[in-house]
Amino acid sequence: MENKKELSLYIHIPFCKQKCFYCDFPSYASIDYLREDYVKALCKEIEEKAIDYKIKSIFIGGGTPSYLETKEIAKLLKTISKLDLEEGMEFTMECNPGALAEEKLKTMIEGGVNRISMGLQAVQNSLLKDIGRIHTFKEFTENFNLARKVGFKNINVDLMFGLPNQSFDEWKESLETIADLNPEHISAYSLIVEEGTAFYKLWERNKLILPTEEDERRMYSETKEILKAKGYHQYEISNYSKEGYECYHNKVYWESKNYLGVGSASTSFIDGKRIKNIENVKAYIDGIMEGKSIVLEENENSKEDNIEEFVFMGLRMIEGISKEEFKRRFKSDIYEIYSKEIEKNIENGLLLEVGDRLKLTEKGIEFSNLVMSDFIL
Ligand code: SF4
Repeated sequence: MENKKELSLYIHIPFCKQKCFYCDFPSYASIDYLREDYVKALCKEIEEKAIDYKIKSIFIGGGTPSYLETKEIAKLLKTISKLDLEEGMEFTMECNPGALAEEKLKTMIEGGVNRISMGLQAVQNSLLKDIGRIHTFKEFTENFNLARKVGFKNINVDLMFGLPNQSFDEWKESLETIADLNPEHISAYSLIVEEGTAFYKLWERNKLILPTEEDERRMYSETKEILKAKGYHQYEISNYSKEGYECYHNKVYWESKNYLGVGSASTSFIDGKRIKNIENVKAYIDGIMEGKSIVLEENENSKEDNIEEFVFMGLRMIEGISKEEFKRRFKSDIYEIYSKEIEKNIENGLLLEVGDRLKLTEKGIEFSNLVMSDFIL
């Protein structure tokens, strides 16, 4: 009997209607003329690479996948349907209000998508405008309700705190308003001003007024409380879900499991090897169509790299890492490698040992960067 290797599939869509001011993802506005050819190339790459595997979950991310034309989405989903897909697997597509319509949602659900992830960030139109989003809050709710009407029973909403000029009360209002809409999953990330973004330029010129560190910490700790009261449990530093709705695909990353990335700028991680595709969208299309390599880098992780990644990613999850799993993967006891670091962080109240698992305490989550830096080999 054929025994296929199992993995998850990430598909990158590098198009956006407009670039948000904080965004450093490999996505571009004003290259729409490449869209049709990109989808062709993407389907070719999927047919060539993903066919060898049993697919455990799919995430179409970007960029703005819902910015594709309906017929392009249909083409992509048709190609995906030919793969060896695990029955009932989680299949997510990222959608942005302002780039979504009923017809598209129907095509998605008919094509097997069973989870959508909606980028919102805040419920106040003034804040949305200030961070370069193309939609209002009203457009978001219309799209959200439309997705429910079409039949989506698993929806994530992305929110962001620590935004310029955002008050604590505004953050609270965003959380409560969204929780009342009852999505199955909420991601709540803090803004990081990344180099190369519009915000970075403002920040360099001292023109970006950000909440203080103390305010931001308060926003983070209140997030847990507010969402808990609304029935969401935190399962990762920035992710919350209703019972049974943790994102399988994200856990693949945090648990350092195998995944295949296709599309420009995507990354694959298969058996300790990390492969990155080229970022330039035109070069990606040409490469695929001419049968040339579109790989930018290929690195075999060292044992140390794998250990570090396992610990860093694993500690992001509230349930932490399994000592048994560590031993199974790396053929050594975690204490042989990290005894000093573990003891020190337990003593400082940042790390906790519960049965087989090592996890961050509440204080540890707050100072996670500090804990992680101890685990660099
Ligand atoms: S929609 Fe998403 S990917 Fe596109 S620019 Fe905004 S944050 Fe970046």
